Amino acid sequence: MSSKAIIVTGAASGLGQAAARALADNGYRIAALDLAAIDAAALPENANSYSVDVSETQAVDAICAQVAQDFGGIHGLVNCAGIVKGGKLVSRKGPHDAEAFKQVIAVNVFGTFNLMRAAGALMAENEPDTDGARGVIVNTSSIAAYDGQIGQIAYAASKGAVASMTLPAARDMASLGIRVVSIAPGIFDTPMLAGLPEDVRSALEATVPFPAKLADPADFGAMALHIFQNKTLNGEVIRLDGALRMAPQ
Ligand code: NAP
Repeated sequence: MSSKAIIVTGAASGLGQAAARALADNGYRIAALDLAAIDAAALPENANSYSVDVSETQAVDAICAQVAQDFGGIHGLVNCAGIVKGGKLVSRKGPHDAEAFKQVIAVNVFGTFNLMRAAGALMAENEPDTDGARGVIVNTSSIAAYDGQIGQIAYAASKGAVASMTLPAARDMASLGIRVVSIAPGIFDTPMLAGLPEDVRSALEATVPFPAKLADPADFGAMALHIFQNKTLNGEVIRLDGALRMAPQ
């Protein structure tokens, strides 16, 4: 698949940026999607930047068509765009903010689905390789899909949905020669967690059995790359978490 084009969403930062680097270092060309245009210095060589909200249907259709035109086709997708909004189902302030819940679902669930549908349709137009393969899709779930903590109900629901879409998506795409695999990261050292105070970061690190630290985004990139390279991986959600099982709080 080397030298073929891969869309990476959320590529401006954190896990998306690490996936884009790992794939680019191995010869893939990258279409880096994020809310805002990405500074060229933050992009790997052979990458183009596109600005789009993954939850916008028509904008995503248009960007995917543009990417296919710019690169002469799309052979992969890594969905990393995502947001977190905390809040308890009911707290002293009252019921959970309904709009916040809908926003998390719109970006994390619909955004993932939206890219899979639009980019997947374009991958289906590829000539199959000698194994009958036309493309690979990698989604980003979270261990919150399984061990959702207090105050994570919206995020856990969204990441559970990403995990649950993996098998039916793989089954839907099997006849097209497109594999679908999700990664469920534990806690990684990205801007999403950078805002936490040092004592909270240390406490989080201590909850990971081994290695007891916030994980290096490069390990996520390595996993994304491996999924592209391993032709048997399909329809699975892979925990990448140092054996962390999150406590209620
Ligand atoms: P991050 O550094 O905040 O990166 C997320 C990127 O997605 C940002 O560049 C963000 O842009 C972009 N984005 C947000 N909403 C978007 C939208 N509607 N359309 C397009 N792009 C959008 O977070 P990260 O830690 O790398 O997380 C990447 C993914 O991994 C997320 O899905 C997250 O839920 C998941 N994850 C992370 C961890 C972790 O420990 N870090 C653990 C489990 C799962 P802006 O910055 O402009 O908003």
